[in-house]
Amino acid sequence: FAPWENPQSVPFIEFRNVTKRFGDFVAVNNLSLKIYEREFFALLGGSGCGKTTMMRMLAGFETPTEGEIFLDGQPLAGVPPYRRPVNMMFQSYALFPHMSVEANIAFGLKQEGMAKDKIDERVAEMLRLTKLEKFARRKPHQLSGGQRQRVALARSLAKRPKVLLLDEPLGALDRKLREETQFELMNLQEELKMTFLVVTHDQEEAMTMADRIAVMDAGRIIQIATPGEIYEMPNSRFVADFIGDINLFEAKVVSREAGVTRLAVSEADGGFEIETSAETQAAAGDTVWYAIRPEKIQIALAEPDAAPQPNRIRGEVWDIAYLGDVSIYHSRVGDTVTIRSTVANRTRLVERPIAWDDQVVLSWGRDAGVILTA
Ligand code: ATP
Repeated sequence: FAPWENPQSVPFIEFRNVTKRFGDFVAVNNLSLKIYEREFFALLGGSGCGKTTMMRMLAGFETPTEGEIFLDGQPLAGVPPYRRPVNMMFQSYALFPHMSVEANIAFGLKQEGMAKDKIDERVAEMLRLTKLEKFARRKPHQLSGGQRQRVALARSLAKRPKVLLLDEPLGALDRKLREETQFELMNLQEELKMTFLVVTHDQEEAMTMADRIAVMDAGRIIQIATPGEIYEMPNSRFVADFIGDINLFEAKVVSREAGVTRLAVSEADGGFEIETSAETQAAAGDTVWYAIRPEKIQIALAEPDAAPQPNRIRGEVWDIAYLGDVSIYHSRVGDTVTIRSTVANRTRLVERPIAWDDQVVLSWGRDAGVILTA
């Protein structure tokens, strides 16, 4: 069992009803959160949702207006930043430009009064962990962006904090380097057996690295779950929309029987029926949203006079976005609704079976989507 699945687990970091106001502005709104030891946890959300403020409160750079934060069972109120077993790696890296890589890494240890031979040992270990041995004598301006990022990481890890806070750690890196670094960070976290808290607006980054993700909006957490649950079972339109691409249909609940819910989409929106085994509290007559990922919808050429059925809709292809590994087909259903379906490009472009303006059938299984009421 994962620690968050066990009600007996003791959290390592806990935010308890934490609010942070800047004047009248509420940046973090009565938020509670538990993070467990050795977890790789991501706070994910758009700009201004309060995620950096959460991290700054944990590091001690901001004080909560209300509520409490605990680390390893101890309340953090009144504990100054340098006495918290927490280190923060900043987006800007904040390296000392006139110091070599090794001096940058050693800086905090010297300040702490660590003995010279211990410092050398620790610096060597950090250089090895972050694969910077060859660059020990260089200055930051003699390094690439990715190497600078690793120096910042080595420096944050040198003091062996219990928790490492990473604020948009990969934001400045190009795509390829970002992907590599994601795996390096995951390996480091495994090796050092530390708790990592990362703040990011990049859903791919959060999905790749984190054990669990908290999706935030306007100072609140909307959903906390594993990447798979967040993607497959978003709890709200906000999360469904924020993570990846999704088709959303407004529909009325027609009936609920034996674990199958029947939904009807209005004539104006295409006039089709949906049958789903998705869980819901909604009752017959309620208006809900049905959300389904594009890769869960199959697309095939329409047979001339097949009768309509639930989860089988006729459409007309009006756009195809070629993305290399997949293509996204946009099919018009009725006058207003467009359904996106993703098709893996398993063959070369020649002889693509479905083209623009083709009449198609879009279909999916009962277990493919979710019902959302918020
Ligand atoms: P981003 O990804 O853009 O950094 P964020 O989710 O990390 O966004 P925060 O930095 O936590 O957002 O800021 C949340 C809100 O609080 C923002 O609207 C910001 O303008 C405001 N805020 C943050 N710090 C202060 C401050 N010291 N004084 C006033 N307002 C602040």
